[in-house]
Amino acid sequence: MVIKPKVRGFVCITSHPEGCAAHVQEQIDYVKSKAPLAQGPKNVLVIGSSTGYGLASRIAAAFGSKANTVGVFFERPSEEGRPATPGWYNTIAVTAAARAEGLKAININGDAFSEEIKRQTIEVLKREIGPVDLVVYSLASPRRTHPKSGVVHKSTLKPIGQSYTNKTVDTDKGIVSQVSIEPASDAEIADTVAVMGGEDWELWIDALLAADLIAPGATSVSYSYIGPEVTWPIYKNGTIGIAKNDLERVGKRIDAKLKAHGYGRALISVNKALVTQASSAIPVVPLYISILYKIMKAHGTHEGCIEQIQRLFSTQLYGGSGLQFDDAGRVRIDDWEMKPDVQAEVARIWPQVTTENLAQLTDIAGYRSEFLRLFGFGLPGINYEADVEPHRPML
Ligand code: NAD
Repeated sequence: MVIKPKVRGFVCITSHPEGCAAHVQEQIDYVKSKAPLAQGPKNVLVIGSSTGYGLASRIAAAFGSKANTVGVFFERPSEEGRPATPGWYNTIAVTAAARAEGLKAININGDAFSEEIKRQTIEVLKREIGPVDLVVYSLASPRRTHPKSGVVHKSTLKPIGQSYTNKTVDTDKGIVSQVSIEPASDAEIADTVAVMGGEDWELWIDALLAADLIAPGATSVSYSYIGPEVTWPIYKNGTIGIAKNDLERVGKRIDAKLKAHGYGRALISVNKALVTQASSAIPVVPLYISILYKIMKAHGTHEGCIEQIQRLFSTQLYGGSGLQFDDAGRVRIDDWEMKPDVQAEVARIWPQVTTENLAQLTDIAGYRSEFLRLFGFGLPGINYEADVEPHRPML
């Protein structure tokens, strides 16, 4: 079939297998263009490995450090005549490339929050890989079925305490409008913490420790975001921010457990705002990203997921010169985003943006092209008019 993008709001309901493979190959090529990681990880578990920051982490480990990787993700498989979600195709591409280099790459598609998927992962690690020296926890999910209670928790993206009104953009239609979001209830806050907080990360680490599958001195990392004040009511001080505070708190506990286990460590890396399936669902943030991309591209400091993670690994986690923490003990790889001159320009442009001047004042074109690339569209060298088989078996 000929596969074209079908965008519905902030999702695209189709994806292109060959475009996704080309997108993955670009990331592999980027990592290979850099020096290999000095003392990088060798056996890596990535939870949330199929798209965004988790995919970039898997690629950086496999191709920057010749690591065996186990990836856990939740994607809709392809069917006859129906494309999969893009992470399915991304994973096939990463796996084929890694195995071609003699690396182990093993995939588990299912609900990472469940006991069953943890059990399957542990079984596969025992059988195929042995203890891991890096665990990346990079889930972004709208819901979680609690493994003990069976309760389905739904995360929300809302302010806390009072309603929040600001500009937002419909990235598909290019319309700038005001959005007002009512504050979250206590139950919504608790539900968001249950989904995006640290409980599940710790359950993973406890299960791996109990199974003797964490190598002494291992690292575990999870990702967070802070961003500028204009997004704080909806992000840092909103429901998702409260969940990220919980992730940080739990991260400190995991750090103590890993320190006790052969001088390991757990840390939070605060990453840059980027176009991913997760971030495109947050009100206001896509407008901020469109402005930010314009400024950072002009400054020559723009990075995507792979550049961020390659820099995180090569200058911080495996950089040799040691980690640089902020006051709260987090690694900051959002440093270029948060530079005062960049943020001063964002603050200058923000109040001026309207539907009419969106294309001049922001990089909405870059946002859209990046969004479509997440689904395998707009990659060079792909003939999008050609018939393509959507049904691809997982490797
Ligand atoms: P993403 O949507 O691209 O990736 C989410 C991953 O989680 C995918 O691999 C998906 O398959 C997997 N997943 C979701 N639910 C799952 C489940 N139940 N079981 C197994 N796998 C599941 O998101 P992303 O933007 O890369 O986000 C990853 C992390 O990075 C999040 O913690 C996010 O808060 C953080 N982060 C993102 C940004 C950003 O701007 N995108 C910035 C800083 C930090």
